[in-house]
Amino acid sequence: MAVRTILSYENPRLRMKSVRVKRVDASIRALIDDMLETMRSAEGIGLAAPQIGVLLRVIVAEYQEEDDEEPKQTVLINPEITEKDGEWMAEEGCLSVPGFVGTVPRAERVTVKGKSRTGKDVRIKTEGLLAHILQHEIDHLDGVLYIDYLDSLDELRKIEPGTRKRRGRRASDENGESTDEAESEEVAEAAALG
Ligand SMILES: [Zn+2]
Repeated sequence: MAVRTILSYENPRLRMKSVRVKRVDASIRALIDDMLETMRSAEGIGLAAPQIGVLLRVIVAEYQEEDDEEPKQTVLINPEITEKDGEWMAEEGCLSVPGFVGTVPRAERVTVKGKSRTGKDVRIKTEGLLAHILQHEIDHLDGVLYIDYLDSLDELRKIEPGTRKRRGRRASDENGESTDEAESEEVAEAAALG
């Protein structure tokens, strides 16, 4: 396993479409291990292969919410969103756009199909944080960054690097207003996305 360099948003590779994995073999499992190690080292909760310069359709996620005893890990090869519904405005950040967060529309619930690290077909129906991460990471496979959903980059907010909590829920209230305390939680969560 090795920690790899995470490309930043101006790198053209992040704008390319990644190709499907034809065979889930040892090289793919080694890539997954590197991705997990790189994500943990960057204190992220998700990562897509193109973020380390590998244009293959592979994503990982790992996070621990307050009630979890163990971190929840998701690894998906050739992931595809087959269903989505609900909409919420998600505060998010990206390891490839360090130091900023923005608010973008995401589905509340998604169903995603793909393959596991052993090559088995899997189908995940999820909501909340994992649904949010999966949408963000699958976008990376198509060369899309969350900043593309903003009308202007002026909508990005600068954040202090290194503020992070392993929390996964929206911190703002229905109107998108947030208290000081909610703000720090919200920013902390967003900063940790992959
Ligand atoms: Zn990202």
